[in-house]
Amino acid sequence: MLRKFFLVFSFICILISCTTAPITGRSQLILLSEYQEFNLGVTAYAQALKDNKKSTNKVYIDAVNRVGSRIAPATSKDYNWEFNVLESEMINAWCLPGGKIAFYEGILDIMENESQIAAVMGHEIAHATARHGGERISLGILAQIGSIALQVALRDKDPAVQYAVFQAYVPALLVGVILPFSRNQESESDEIGLIYMARAGYNPEEAVRFWEIMYETNKGKSRPPQWLSTHPATPKRIENLKRLLPDAMKIYDSSEKAQLKKLH
Ligand SMILES: [Zn+2]
Repeated sequence: MLRKFFLVFSFICILISCTTAPITGRSQLILLSEYQEFNLGVTAYAQALKDNKKSTNKVYIDAVNRVGSRIAPATSKDYNWEFNVLESEMINAWCLPGGKIAFYEGILDIMENESQIAAVMGHEIAHATARHGGERISLGILAQIGSIALQVALRDKDPAVQYAVFQAYVPALLVGVILPFSRNQESESDEIGLIYMARAGYNPEEAVRFWEIMYETNKGKSRPPQWLSTHPATPKRIENLKRLLPDAMKIYDSSEKAQLKKLH
């Protein structure tokens, strides 16, 4: 039994040392291959495009495609990129593994310029290039392994004790591991996305401006307390982005496209 655990542990350690997130260089634990992750992305994207109506707003469609095709090369990932705008008032956008992106009309409605599209595009694309989906699935697998290990450990205990331990395990896992993990992924995507947009020649200051607009838009709407939320609080996000801005501005200033733009 112990030997088996040791083998699994060494296997996990090998994986940890093999996978790192782009830009931040954070070590990652991902238990599925990039290929498996891409397949999940392709299937889910096809389903989402079937379940939702595509936008007919040509201005939005063109802008999202234009921004996407400028940000994609900045990632140096050879994905089969796809960009779509969906007809919905929802203020949201997402990117599935392998570079399958969707923007809802609602998020484009509140934006002031193309650089703000680039801010969201960079953030969403970063979720895919940093393989956050695969990481979340892996965490789910580990949580299950943990639960099985707990069952084995408690095998001979009183059923009331077993019940009490499990009652404590699930919320502790959620609040202590899964939610903070998800907030860290959000912050990481903000960081990577800022660099991507700067490399593509979009002004990273617009990311800060976009989150200020988001803050204004969501003001007054009830939100779960920070410790129960999957997303960092918006003021914290803005603060983090401002801290990362000087480095991103250097990249933006030296990016070839930005220089060309200044000549015009
Ligand atoms: Zn995100």
